[in-house]
Amino acid sequence: MFNRIGAAAVGWLFPARCAGCGALGSVWCAECAAQTHVLQEPVCGHCGYPLPEPQAECPACQGRYFAFTQARAWSSYGGVLRRAILKLKHKRNKDLGAVLSAYMAAALPPRWGVELVIPVPLSVRRQAQRGYNPVELLAAPLALQVGLPLAAGALQRQRDTLPQMDLQLEQRWANVHGAFAGDAAVAGRRVLLVDDIITSGATAHAAARALRAAGANSVYVLALARTL
Ligand SMILES: [Zn+2]
Ligand SMILES: [Zn+2]
Repeated sequence: MFNRIGAAAVGWLFPARCAGCGALGSVWCAECAAQTHVLQEPVCGHCGYPLPEPQAECPACQGRYFAFTQARAWSSYGGVLRRAILKLKHKRNKDLGAVLSAYMAAALPPRWGVELVIPVPLSVRRQAQRGYNPVELLAAPLALQVGLPLAAGALQRQRDTLPQMDLQLEQRWANVHGAFAGDAAVAGRRVLLVDDIITSGATAHAAARALRAAGANSVYVLALARTL
């Protein structure tokens, strides 16, 4: 009884605020949902970059090898969604993660046939500092929604890396090279790697490479947003 009254009082004192615009009422309002630039086909068959017309790959992917089979993002990165992702990074907002992951679940191509969900991890040190992995706020409800196991411990980040957004394109590949290690839980499995933002695909490549080295059959990547 006390707990129920307590929860109601907290809801009254701290009503939900939209992570995109700050409006009261919900963690993600209809207006911000309508403003989000959802990515539609045709997209690059490797990295998910939107293309003006159907073609196999975008110019950036031509001649580039990725350890993952395909990557997709639900939306372009920017505007209200950028603000929402920052909120996830700085506040452990599980309600926001659940709402945004539902969009990701809808964007997951069924043909991938994935069996296991793995969030891109932080290093042990960074996770201890922050207390949680923001990407897991998306990956955990996503796994529930699509009915797949979450294997958050099956990929580790072995060292700290710099934020990819702060680096030039070619530095991004070196920054994350060899940063990850996969474990035997992924052997023979089709893995869904989840991230919040795809920039160059370098992080997803380095993580997928570690998963493949640990025996993963294939790796597919789903992100909330991608930079354009
Ligand atoms: Zn809003
Ligand atoms: Zn591409």
